[in-house]
Amino acid sequence: MQGRRRFIENVLKLGLMSTATLAGVSCGMPVKPGTQRTGVVLDELYFKHDLPEHPENAQRLVAIDKELERRGLWDKLTPVQARLATNEELLWAHSQNYIDEIESISEYGGGFFDPYVGDTYLNEVSFDAAKMAAGGAIQMNLAVYDRQVDNGFALLRPPGHHALESKAMGFCLFNSDVIAARALQKYRGVKRVAIVDFDVHHGNGTQDLTIDDPSIMAVSIHQHPYWPMTGLAEMTGTGEAKGTNVNCPFGSGAGNQAYLRVFDEVILPKLQDFKPEQIIVFAGYDAHWRDPLAEHRVSVDGFNHLLQRLKRTAQDLCGGRLALSLGGGYELEPLAHCVAGNFEVLLDEPLTPDPLGESPRLENDYSEQLEKLKSIHRV
Ligand SMILES: [Zn+2]
Repeated sequence: MQGRRRFIENVLKLGLMSTATLAGVSCGMPVKPGTQRTGVVLDELYFKHDLPEHPENAQRLVAIDKELERRGLWDKLTPVQARLATNEELLWAHSQNYIDEIESISEYGGGFFDPYVGDTYLNEVSFDAAKMAAGGAIQMNLAVYDRQVDNGFALLRPPGHHALESKAMGFCLFNSDVIAARALQKYRGVKRVAIVDFDVHHGNGTQDLTIDDPSIMAVSIHQHPYWPMTGLAEMTGTGEAKGTNVNCPFGSGAGNQAYLRVFDEVILPKLQDFKPEQIIVFAGYDAHWRDPLAEHRVSVDGFNHLLQRLKRTAQDLCGGRLALSLGGGYELEPLAHCVAGNFEVLLDEPLTPDPLGESPRLENDYSEQLEKLKSIHRV
């Protein structure tokens, strides 16, 4: 209960601070000189989309909130106010029939999107929560692009990377990152956006929605073969978009070494070629070695090193413009440490030593797979 109360207090604090803080920033008022201005999006609706017995439940945010508070990070962050995405914005990724279907399931009290699969739930507020998630990603990306903040992290739920044009799956309702990328293009005239997804599951929704779009590079590093079974390395994009879909699949037992090497040897060179004007990160932490939903062996430190690389790449390529949105991560303790550690990276704060350490099991060697990926992408 205590964590929940603290969370509510933090949300209220955010709501009260957001307008004044952003007004100060846009007037050029310095915020904590010498450090990065890191934005955070959080909204009460993200907690109200909930099913306690489901792995993707509101306690995930409660755990994150507690750890941010324990490390004294809240006071260093700049709140960015979320808003509901409009119907027009949702249509940039989804069909009207699908949007109406989500609204009607929610309106009638909720249930599973597909009762036969039984993975993706909705309750009576889920339609609004999902619109607030997409709107939160839009607002965070615009705040980063407009330099109201240097970088940021939207702590949104429900997540989005499995959501297809007309189908909810994998706990995801609306594809917030694709919608946010298109918002940058439509509202700010941005030509190229990269979405980098280090969640352990393949970002099949993001791939599907951008496979023929040369203006969005979709990168996914994931366990394969594994649910949702998509994400083959050979799927590199169609037509003019060839080369802008970068799948990096690894079997079970891949850990820090495979993740960091694929970043250094494949993903970062691809980003350098593509030259994005902003990098969006689908930041899922279910590749952590303690996560119950997958079999990769990344550590808290490993996720911090990944984000440091992305941050440096964003600084080299696009003025540091980097916006994260929350993906998976289902074991509360590692999830909270991973998110808090990534906030320290964004803020340029000293890193808290990894409290959970490395995986007790050795990582499998994926050198051959790395060579295959390098040859497919000619890097
Ligand atoms: Zn996942």
